Amino acid sequence: MKTLLKGGRVVSGRGWIEADILLEDDKISKVEADISDNDARIIDVTGRFIFPGFIDAHTHFDLAVAGTVTADDFETGTRAAVSGGTTTIVDFATQYRGETLKEALDNWHRKADQKSSCNYGFHLAISEFSESISSELKEIIRDGVTSFKLYMIYDDNMLDDGSIYKVLKRLTELGGIAGVHCENSDLVKAMVQEQKELGNLTTSAHPASRPPLVEAEAIDRLLKIAALADSPVIVVHLSTKAGLKEVQSARKQGQEVYLETCPQYLLLDDSVYDLPDFEGGKYIIAPPLRKKEDQEALWEALADDSIQTLSTDHCSFTRKQKSAGKEDFTKIPGGMAGVETRPVLMYTYGVEAGRITMEQMCRLLSENPAKLYGMYPQKGVIAPGSDADLVVWNPETEWVLSAENQTANVDYQAYEGYPVKGIAEQVYVNGQLAAENGKIVKEHLGQYVKREPYTKLF
Ligand code: MN
Repeated sequence: MKTLLKGGRVVSGRGWIEADILLEDDKISKVEADISDNDARIIDVTGRFIFPGFIDAHTHFDLAVAGTVTADDFETGTRAAVSGGTTTIVDFATQYRGETLKEALDNWHRKADQKSSCNYGFHLAISEFSESISSELKEIIRDGVTSFKLYMIYDDNMLDDGSIYKVLKRLTELGGIAGVHCENSDLVKAMVQEQKELGNLTTSAHPASRPPLVEAEAIDRLLKIAALADSPVIVVHLSTKAGLKEVQSARKQGQEVYLETCPQYLLLDDSVYDLPDFEGGKYIIAPPLRKKEDQEALWEALADDSIQTLSTDHCSFTRKQKSAGKEDFTKIPGGMAGVETRPVLMYTYGVEAGRITMEQMCRLLSENPAKLYGMYPQKGVIAPGSDADLVVWNPETEWVLSAENQTANVDYQAYEGYPVKGIAEQVYVNGQLAAENGKIVKEHLGQYVKREPYTKLF
C-alpha cells in the first residue's frame, strides 16, 4: 500500500522544507520534491505542516491510584492520543513490591496489547531494588525497555536515596536512563499535617502542602546523587522556577541532566485551587500547578532549549472519581487528562503566540523524546526508512476546546473554552490513516515499540 502526500511543508527539528512524502506500507520510503508514483493514493496537503508523529513519553493509562483506576485505559487513552496527533506513547509499567520487573512488564502488556490505537512502549517504574532486580535489569534493557522511573515520594513506590544511587549507577552501566519524580516525601507529609491541624481540608491545602521548595529540594538532592553515581538523569514534570535553577547550576558543573515539563504547568496556575464547588478537584495533580512567575520561567526555558521534552502526565479521573476527596483533599485521586490536547495547546500558545518556534515544537514533542527514549530515527523524524507515523497539521483551523469535542474518557475538560488554532487534520499510524480532524477513523493500529539505549541530546 502506497500513499503520497503532495505539497506539504515537512517539519524537522531544524525547520521545514517543501517536499512530497511517499509512504510504503508502514515505512516512509521517499522525502523529495515532486515525487510521482502511479500506484500511490495521492493526498493533497498543500499549505499543511507535516510533523513526525508526536510522542508523549509520560502517560498513565489503566493505573490503580487512591483506591480507583484511571478513567482512561489503553483503549480510550490511545484513541485520545491519536485524535490529537500523538502516534506513540510511553506509559509507566509499575513494579509493585515483591514483583520481578518481568512480572510488571507482563502486567502492562496485558493492559495494552491488542487495545492500542497508537504505538506504545513502557518505562519501568522500579519500586524495590535488590541484587536480583539488579541482575534482571540486564535482560530487561536488552529486550527493549531502556528507560526507568524512580519516585522520591509515594510510600508504595519511593526509593530511598541509597537505592536511587544504586539504581542510577547500574542503569548507566547497562545503557539505561531514569526519569525521576522529584518531591520531598517527608516535607509533604509534615505540611499536609499542618494543613489538617489548621482545619483546611479543601483543595487550597494542596499547593500549600507542596510548595516549590519541596520540588527544588528533591531535584537538588537527586542531582547530587546522580553526580555521585556519575549518571545522566531526567527530571520529569518540572513545575517550578526554583527547580529549574537547581538544574541550571548542575549543568554549569557539567552534569548531564534532561528536563521534561507539561502543558498544564505552562498554561494553568494555582488560583484554580481556590475555585468554589470543588472545581479545584479537577486540577489536583502532583506536583501542583504553580504561579505565573513559574510559568514564565518554564516558557523561557523552552525558548532557550533548557527543557528537552514536553509530555502530559495524562492520568485522568471523572468528576465522580475526583469527588472521593470532596471532604478531604488528600483523598482526591491525583492526575488530569492531557494526551489529546498537548499538540494543539503547544501549537496555539507556543508557536502561534511566538514563544517557541515550529522546529522547537518538533523537537519537544517528537525528535527529543524519540532520541532520549531510544526510538530515533525509527521515530521522531520524517526520513526514508523511518516509521510512517505522521501528522498533517492544518495551521488555519480555529476551534474551541471543550468536554463536548474530546475523545478522552472524562466528563470535563481542564481547558474548557480555550480558543485554539491548528488541528491534526490527518494522523497516520504505521502508514495507515488513523484519525481525521480529531475523530478516530481506524483504531487498534498501535504496535509495541522495542527501544534502544538512549541517545545523548547534548
Ligand atoms: Mn506521572
